[in-house]
Amino acid sequence: MNEKFRFYSDRNFLYRYRVQKDDYRETLANAVIPNPLTPFKDELFSSWIARLSAKFDCQVSTFLNIYFPFLRDKRLTARDMDLVLDSELAEIFSQKTRISKTIIYNTGLKSYESYLSETIRDNSRNNLISTVKIKGSYSKSYGLKYCPYCLRENNYFKKQWRLLFVNVCEKHNCYLLDRCPSCNNPITITKRKKGIKFFNCPFCGFEFHKAENEKVSSQSKAVENQKKMLEILNNGYFIFENKPYYSIFYFWTVKKLAKLIYLDEYRRNDILQTEIELHNYPLKSKKEIKSRFIEDFLEVKEGISLFTAIYDILKDRESFDKFVKDNNLSFYILNTFKEGSDYNPPYWYIDLISNYQVGINNQIVTEEMIRNAVKWMQKNGIRVSLRNLAKWTGIDFCSNKKAKVLKKIVEDNKT
Ligand SMILES: [Zn+2]
Ligand SMILES: [Zn+2]
Repeated sequence: MNEKFRFYSDRNFLYRYRVQKDDYRETLANAVIPNPLTPFKDELFSSWIARLSAKFDCQVSTFLNIYFPFLRDKRLTARDMDLVLDSELAEIFSQKTRISKTIIYNTGLKSYESYLSETIRDNSRNNLISTVKIKGSYSKSYGLKYCPYCLRENNYFKKQWRLLFVNVCEKHNCYLLDRCPSCNNPITITKRKKGIKFFNCPFCGFEFHKAENEKVSSQSKAVENQKKMLEILNNGYFIFENKPYYSIFYFWTVKKLAKLIYLDEYRRNDILQTEIELHNYPLKSKKEIKSRFIEDFLEVKEGISLFTAIYDILKDRESFDKFVKDNNLSFYILNTFKEGSDYNPPYWYIDLISNYQVGINNQIVTEEMIRNAVKWMQKNGIRVSLRNLAKWTGIDFCSNKKAKVLKKIVEDNKT
């Protein structure tokens, strides 16, 4: 490489060059980033970019402006970049760093697509992904959580810390923190006070890894149940009554139950009450809840009790049945869906609640359901066939009026 273009990691180098040499900007925009850090296997995109920027001693916005000026229109630092990272962007970052596109794509939340839900959107809120509300490059809500002990071991933020049902550290058995312990601001990692080696709060400079946090009581099932939920997410399927189904069904139902329990106050459940007592943190009452979108405001200790209970309710038909009976849930309540997030109930759920109504049949299977199922099978390397469709989704539309049309979708995509 020409001497003129070598990268020096000493301070102000980039700035000095930018002022003095107009063409240097262009060179950097076309350059491959020298010795980039490789993301950790479970690292979050913004965490990787923040570490990379820190390595070159600049803020994330400066780093992106210098090396990726052509991405300016994307306004990455003004948005939730972990949601924005799609396959096209991953390709760009891959070309600039020579790190595999798959590794980079996997750091983004879109990589949960077809595992957590059908689609992950960057222009709206997403089910089970905590909201960060970026304003002026700062996070305005408590959507990013972390474990200080994990940071002490390895200085990076994990992708799973953005999930609504991840509230404890499985490794250190402690609660996650969702704000700066020193000034209480939400965690922002794409800005930092400079001159400090570790991730720190841009408002007060507190180094996040120095925090201490409470251990979760050993009587709690939180760690165990969270682990199992994450396993379902990572595997892409769950087992119910000895049959595998795809994980999207599961997480759709998790969200539905979260709304029933948290927003509509159907809270009669032993595990839920035990957990609330153990963490000594009651769930907010209906009156205190101002929005219907839990992802905007659910607190760590509420989330623990809520999702520990939900895992238990969904573990088999018997416990689901008990939950329905204890709370006197009618078929009507279980079967009411509003436009938006919980629209389009999965077949598996319809089947689960069908016990509470006589005479339900599979006329409900729609073309969209089949298309989504086919997409999922393709993505997971499962051969597309009617038999596999029935096996993995529980969808069996033999008696369906539109059976011909539905079967054709599968036939057309057969592998
Ligand atoms: Zn930890
Ligand atoms: Zn702070």
